[in-house]
Amino acid sequence: MKFIDALREIAAIPSKNPDLLIAQYKAFTFQMPLLYMVLIINTWGLAATHMRVAPVELTIFAPAAMSLISAFRVVGWLRKSKRIVSRDIAFKELSRTNRLASAIAIVFTLWALSLFSYGDAYAKAHVAFYMAITVIGVIFCLMHLRRAAFTVAVIVNGSFVVFFALSGNLVFVAIAVNTAFVSAAMLVILLVHYRDFTGLVNARAENYRLANLDSLSNLPNRRAFFSYLDAAYATATKDNFHIAVGIIDLDGFKPINDLYGHAAGDRLLHVIAQRLLEICPENFFVARLGGDEFAVVATHFGGTDALLAIGEQMCAGIRMPIDLGDIDLQVTGSIGFAVYPELANDTIKLFANADYALYHGKRTGRGKAILFSVEHDNEIRRDARIEQALQHADFTRELAIVFQPIVDVTSQTTVGFEALARWISPTLGPIAPSQFIQVAERSGSIETITQVLLKKALQHAVSWPEELRLSFNLSAQDLSSLDTVMSIISIIGKSDFDPHRLDFEITETAFIRDFQQVRSSTELLRKLGCGISLDDFGTGFSSLTHLHALPLTKIKIDRSFVTNLNDNPASYKIVKSLLALSRDMGLECIVEGVETNEELITLMSLGGQIVQGYLYSKPISATEVGLFLESPLTTAQQS
Ligand code: C2E
Ligand code: CA
Ligand code: CA
Repeated sequence: MKFIDALREIAAIPSKNPDLLIAQYKAFTFQMPLLYMVLIINTWGLAATHMRVAPVELTIFAPAAMSLISAFRVVGWLRKSKRIVSRDIAFKELSRTNRLASAIAIVFTLWALSLFSYGDAYAKAHVAFYMAITVIGVIFCLMHLRRAAFTVAVIVNGSFVVFFALSGNLVFVAIAVNTAFVSAAMLVILLVHYRDFTGLVNARAENYRLANLDSLSNLPNRRAFFSYLDAAYATATKDNFHIAVGIIDLDGFKPINDLYGHAAGDRLLHVIAQRLLEICPENFFVARLGGDEFAVVATHFGGTDALLAIGEQMCAGIRMPIDLGDIDLQVTGSIGFAVYPELANDTIKLFANADYALYHGKRTGRGKAILFSVEHDNEIRRDARIEQALQHADFTRELAIVFQPIVDVTSQTTVGFEALARWISPTLGPIAPSQFIQVAERSGSIETITQVLLKKALQHAVSWPEELRLSFNLSAQDLSSLDTVMSIISIIGKSDFDPHRLDFEITETAFIRDFQQVRSSTELLRKLGCGISLDDFGTGFSSLTHLHALPLTKIKIDRSFVTNLNDNPASYKIVKSLLALSRDMGLECIVEGVETNEELITLMSLGGQIVQGYLYSKPISATEVGLFLESPLTTAQQS
């Protein structure tokens, strides 16, 4: 039984081991042309020595036909060596070689033996030599396909021994037996060699697997992702189909790492990876790029609607609570998609666009799937122009500050102003701060801009009545190092403005990256006497733990909750609970973006006291501030 199993193993093509299959095939594309060349040359050698004595059918026609077929196969194999192989092709070709091997062995053996009856003893000896040397050469060339090598050995040596035994000539019997023994020895060596070959291929495959696997999530890693993307892209361009890249980023992962430790974070990533695998169909290649970033390459996804639908399923899957035994956690994730060939004509652009869609999506609302669009493309171009203009800008001349009043509705008085940046570029005209601040943050000019703006704002504010406060917006980078904070502090020191009348507004994005640094920076500013307001509150994902750890003095409820306050029950509830929350935490609360009397009335009924918005005034220039303060406070809708 064991023997039969061993034979079966030898006869089989390793269809379940694609690496081995392809390695065998690759060895073959080199060795098979050699094999056929050996056959052609040896055959003509034997034909030549029999030319005079044997009929032309045997010395010309038969060798010509055999050579033609062999030459045909040589060309075929040489062509194959240039192509990329799949496992299916390799399997098909190796099976064919198995079948062809016996046919060729029979044909060449029959031909050689049929020449034996012609010519003298030398010519007869040549037939024996031809068979012996050729079979050994062929076994050598076939060593990666054990079944073919064995078949050839058995057919040729079998006929050889039987035929020459019958000839009765002792010399030929001895040659035949010798050759059979040498062939047998060669087959043994071949088996050993094949075992080593298999071991080598498997080891290489294992190394490759390890180098391309993310051990934490068991998903393909960044390297594997990009090599898959390159390959998918190459086929997509050749065969004209669409591919999509999706990048997934988790929100709220970093705080989990900070609060529950890295082990919990790792387990969470593992769970998310499994969920993504379950949700994605087979034509989605899921990988972990590193950190809390995952990515997919999708082929044949059937249109962008279907793609986004799967994206939404992935976001929903990420959102589901995660039970880690001792703790229950929850995170959200957004996914940005970009599709080739729409708006991206290479893999770098494809990836960059997906990344852009992701981070743009995060600004407008998290936990969603977003497709890179024409608008995004225009934005990128616009941002590039802004970046150019920023590089050549004379900030002191081109930047200005406007002020928007902050009003106490119970006493109907202006309590302060928020300073807002205005930039008129000589080349691009007026650019909204929501646009250029972001570009400046990314391109590294924000710190200079902040310093110029702060100087200007303080210069104006110094002449205001003493009871008025100044609010000034800071970017994440302004708090990201001791140096930048110290330069802010020195600007305040050089102005004659009392730091106790100054509030700095920061957003949650400021402390999402480096919480500790932002905390120590804001503490420094607090020590100076400045207030710290949390801007755009409610749009981010801050946990209360985070808020408690910062030395906040105020929160500002984001405009998006105030718009539709009366029509949207969700907004109403949020504003209500944010107002209650700020009271509980003992923080002053400013409600931003109040545009209508109805909004104001509702806000007052909820206990809102300090507001800012177009209802009272749009941002006004520094020169208009005096006039504004002199005239009685009216709402836009009264006047
Ligand atoms: P922000 O800090 O939330 O500023 C409030 C924005 O809302 C201002 O837009 C203001 O003009 C606008 N706004 C105020 N009341 C209303 C209202 O009733 N309705 C509507 N629709 N809008 C209202 P602005 O001046 O375009 O500034 C946009 C953003 O740019 C600011 O949002 C802030 O994030 C950033 N920014 C502006 N100036 C500076 C600055 O000096 N430094 C930094 N780092 N960022 C700044
Ligand atoms: Ca602000
Ligand atoms: Ca705001």
